[in-house]
Amino acid sequence: MRKHRIAVIPGDGIGLEVIEAGKKVLEELAEKSGEIQFDFKDFDWSSKRYLEQGHYIPEGGLDELKTFDAIYFGAVGSQEVPDHVSLWDLRLAICQGFDQYANVRPARVLPGVTSRLQGADKIDWVIVRENSEGEYSGNGGRVHQGLPDEIGTEVSIFSRKGVERIHRFAFELAMTRPRKKLLLVTKSNAQRHGMVLWDQIFFEVARDFPEVEIQRELVDAVTTRMVLKPETMDVIVATNLHADIISDLAAALSGSLGIAPTANLNPERTFPSMFEPIHGSAFDIAGQGIANPIGAFWTAVMMLEHLGEETSARRLMDAIEAVTRSELHARDLGGAATTAEITDAVCQHIDEQM
Ligand code: ATP
Ligand code: MG
Repeated sequence: MRKHRIAVIPGDGIGLEVIEAGKKVLEELAEKSGEIQFDFKDFDWSSKRYLEQGHYIPEGGLDELKTFDAIYFGAVGSQEVPDHVSLWDLRLAICQGFDQYANVRPARVLPGVTSRLQGADKIDWVIVRENSEGEYSGNGGRVHQGLPDEIGTEVSIFSRKGVERIHRFAFELAMTRPRKKLLLVTKSNAQRHGMVLWDQIFFEVARDFPEVEIQRELVDAVTTRMVLKPETMDVIVATNLHADIISDLAAALSGSLGIAPTANLNPERTFPSMFEPIHGSAFDIAGQGIANPIGAFWTAVMMLEHLGEETSARRLMDAIEAVTRSELHARDLGGAATTAEITDAVCQHIDEQM
């Protein structure tokens, strides 16, 4: 029996509902395989806790989290807490504390899902987002607050170490893909320091990967390419800000925010990695049992792959695709199925495969 200790942080809003559903399908997989066991521990690190106790992560929390094999995360965000507080105090505290510098976001149109984009069936991308520095370094300041000449600065940080490791990670990932293409995205025509360094290091690292076909595009032009020539792209590497934006576009083009997963990886495995659906807490639909759990399930597939459970990962992905193919969709994809109905259907497909 292979055991995996998973820290579970459902967070806020629909995070609670989709992660509960995700645990259910993982339990089903474990039970039916008879070879794996998940030891889940729930952490109530949420905006509710912040409002009651003044913190998301209690003292010593990260030390405890460090002992787990992986972190399964829902969503964080609430109307009562400014977004920059919840983001920095919980999600980024974990990503930065555990040096999860590679954020990986696959985008693909699942069977039975219709995209608004014609030719979207050709989308098969993995976006690699630099997750530890860049535009989201938290560097900057404000002076003359409230005065007419007030200024605020937001300084991007690009370190050679940080840039090199994300490029290397992206090249290695591209090597595992059939097409072996890697697209470099920057804005080095207008930003002539950090962005130029980013480009330069990319081409240095490229020398170690002669089999990878390299491509480059400016971030503004890449949005056009994603819509008009989706088939020309495979793996994409971009900065924290740029990849944040283009991955939301990728999620929308491939159907809905409700189905897309992401992994925050510490590739060296010094610390646990964190897996989360890309959608947020979505309070407009929270508590109604109608959130689409497919994003949380696909996230679980990425977590299983990271844990070395390739067979279970494939089984779960097959079950997810069987359900989307049957057009049992949640409201975000134009259907009327509830979270529970979709979860049960996925569990049933897992059973049928065994
Ligand atoms: P946050 O502030 O945490 O980012 P949000 O309220 O902005 O949360 P998002 O999750 O970013 O919400 O999603 C935007 C909208 O997309 C939601 O308001 C919701 O209607 C829809 N949506 C997102 N995720 C899902 C899902 N899993 N199932 C169904 N609809 C979803
Ligand atoms: Mg949002």
